[in-house]
Amino acid sequence: MIDFRSDTVTKPTTAMREAIANAEVGDDVYGDDPTVNSLEAMAAEMYGFDGALFTSSGTQANLLALMAHCERGDEYICGQQAHNYKFEGGGAAVLGSIQPQPLTNQADGSILLTDIQAAIKPDDVHFAHTQLLSLENTIGGKVLPQAYLAQAQTLAFDNKLKIHLDGARVANAAVAQNIAIGDITQYFDSVSICLSKGLCAPVGSLLLGDERLIHKARRWRKMLGGGMRQAGILAAAAKLAITDQVDRLAIDHDNARYLAECLSELDEFEIEAQQVQTNMLFAEVKQDVDIKHIATELKSLGILISPGSTLRLVTHADISRADIDSFIAKLKGLLA
Ligand SMILES: *Cc1c(COP(=O)(O)O)cnc(C)c1O
Repeated sequence: MIDFRSDTVTKPTTAMREAIANAEVGDDVYGDDPTVNSLEAMAAEMYGFDGALFTSSGTQANLLALMAHCERGDEYICGQQAHNYKFEGGGAAVLGSIQPQPLTNQADGSILLTDIQAAIKPDDVHFAHTQLLSLENTIGGKVLPQAYLAQAQTLAFDNKLKIHLDGARVANAAVAQNIAIGDITQYFDSVSICLSKGLCAPVGSLLLGDERLIHKARRWRKMLGGGMRQAGILAAAAKLAITDQVDRLAIDHDNARYLAECLSELDEFEIEAQQVQTNMLFAEVKQDVDIKHIATELKSLGILISPGSTLRLVTHADISRADIDSFIAKLKGLLA
């Protein structure tokens, strides 16, 4: 199957499978798993934080961050399109009694600093206590400018807010700008990073923060059932994700641009190929195109897409240039 639905579908590499087979393990809830410990130490060092925590998923890493920064009755400011507002089941509200304050995302994925400033609530019994600003990078495949991150950090600091990054695809953001991941994470008090997307690990994310935050997050993780025992099996692959898989993302970005160019030549789709910044592209599907039917036909030809009036396509390690050519050829056949 050639699967354009998401980069979450990537399979672990051969090197990862070998590392998994040979991983030294222990009981991580006792702090005894050497491979988890070395992953966490390595990630903290690489990205410039006191500590790191290996979590079962990005959703869990974000939830732990929100619950470690905020208390019951606090709120976090985020984008309307933020994953940790829109796509995580309302976990912060359900499990943390934390209120989201979502704000409009601009076309480039940012939230206007003036909107953020205006949403920060004064210390008044009527209001929830604004505690945290949460940004996402990349967001919808777009990279937030470094200067914007610096300004957002200053705004947060001036208003005594903490600042969190949902960096599920922060490695894509770094590669797209030809900078280190640490150059992005330096602006944040905490960062979550998905290892199971473009970075190809089978399972797992990281939460980064200072010692106090990681300590609190570790406690919440246990309470939420996320204490994993011989998790070194997973951490062994995770280590290779952050060492061996980052540079490779440039290929995914090139492929996404190539795919966008191919689609832009078809009358049935509207897409600005030069808008593609990382591994994700969005094409508007013309109204008279039955994209659902096309998706069903493609499936029988070994190609998976998520149909919608806006078609989101994601490139990743398990999609080659030849796969894209094959997709375009089959798509043309179905449209004809
Ligand atoms: C995928 C994703 C997450 C959640 O990761 P899971 O591992 O699927 O729980 C969080 N934030 C963003 C921006 C994501 O794309």
